[in-house]
Amino acid sequence: MSEFNAGSAPGPLAGDVHTYTAAFEAWLAARPPAFVAAARPIPSYAERVAAMSELMRVLFDEGWARRGWPEEFGGLGGGIAYRAAMWEALARHGLGAMALFEHLEILAPTLLAMGRRDFAARVLPRFLRGDERWSQGFSEPEAGSDLASVRTRATADGDGYVISGRKIWTSWARYASWCLVLARTGTRESRHRGLTAFAVDLRSPGVEVRAIEQANGTDELAEVTLEGVRVPSGQVVGEVGGGWKVAMHILAHERGTFAWFRHCFLYRQLFDGLRPAAEAEDGGPRAEDGLLGEALLDLAAVRASSHVVMDRYVTGTLAGPEAAFSKLLLAAAEQSVNDWSLADDTDLAIGLQDEHAAVRRQDYLFSRIVTVYGGSQQMQLDTIAKQILRLP
Ligand SMILES: Cc1cc2nc3c(=O)[nH]c(=O)nc-3n(C[C@H](O)[C@H](O)[C@H](O)COP(=O)(O)OP(=O)(O)OC[C@H]3O[C@@H](n4cnc5c(N)ncnc54)[C@H](O)[C@@H]3O)c2cc1C
Repeated sequence: MSEFNAGSAPGPLAGDVHTYTAAFEAWLAARPPAFVAAARPIPSYAERVAAMSELMRVLFDEGWARRGWPEEFGGLGGGIAYRAAMWEALARHGLGAMALFEHLEILAPTLLAMGRRDFAARVLPRFLRGDERWSQGFSEPEAGSDLASVRTRATADGDGYVISGRKIWTSWARYASWCLVLARTGTRESRHRGLTAFAVDLRSPGVEVRAIEQANGTDELAEVTLEGVRVPSGQVVGEVGGGWKVAMHILAHERGTFAWFRHCFLYRQLFDGLRPAAEAEDGGPRAEDGLLGEALLDLAAVRASSHVVMDRYVTGTLAGPEAAFSKLLLAAAEQSVNDWSLADDTDLAIGLQDEHAAVRRQDYLFSRIVTVYGGSQQMQLDTIAKQILRLP
């Protein structure tokens, strides 16, 4: 699978990342038990999170997951290229997904860049080691695409804030210890200028997390209710009133660099599916070959696009509106890979057969909603139209 070979890729994977990658590949080839346990198909999200947390602990203790993060925050130094290489190698050796450690690549860069240093130094090593996990609380019942209309309120009180409100569609909140909450500290009319970001400990009194059962049978999403939750001032992320800037920093990662990490697992899914298809080959053209071609082209597009975003990030530039391209391409690739993956099945009842099939069914159904998270497809197109093409 030469196309899937991190060792020969340019850009973010260059330099002595090659040495790191080669050593990590050798470690994975010995099939460490925590890796094998996390790489098997696990339909239960509770079990998946437990297996991934254990793998993160081992990766941290062995040093692999510490490369690419600053020493002050539990890392061993070096840039995002190490992380790009680590997750791609994990996918290539058989890991199916990052589970909620997706948030390491979506939230941790912002906590590093904008959180209070002592707070970040306290929480990030625990996040990296899988001891604690994070979620992202932006959306509300009345604030999705129109994020500036967030109503959750944070009121200054002594050396801290008291937060009340309701967040929805909070990925992985059921399994998280922390949530990065966007709340209103300004007037109701202040829109995006009156927002502040807070790191809220989900174990605090006044927090209720209610899982939302999804059509694919999983409980990744949740509703988080905050009722008079006290948060110390040291857990403000960014400036008071600067929550919009924090949200945009996070979304730049969720739409941009994250596409790199996620697309590695789509290649994994595609290559896993190729084996049975090849065995069934009778020499003639098959209907699903067209779908396979589409999936490969979509993956190549998202790889190229996210590579550019990663290269820019390595040189210190956060993706701007052009991250919308990576987000759109990633969603398209996720859907076409899953269209192809289920092409030989007559219905979705395959989920009842075994764990492989159950996970495949979950992935397929989840792929139908990937055009929504991180900002809907229409909002990404709107960004491109207005901010890049300057259309009226
Ligand atoms: C799998 C998944 C995971 C998610 N995880 C999280 C999470 O961890 N944290 C979090 O905070 N949120 C999360 N979300 C929520 C997500 O960010 C919102 O669903 C999204 O922003 C859309 O908001 P909405 O659902 O309120 O829909 P609306 O904003 O009500 O939009 C409904 C429809 O109208 C369209 N629309 C709205 N406004 C416009 C406009 N101005 N121009 C053109 N079309 C428009 C939208 O594109 C959409 O098709 C997640 C969602 C999904 C599906």
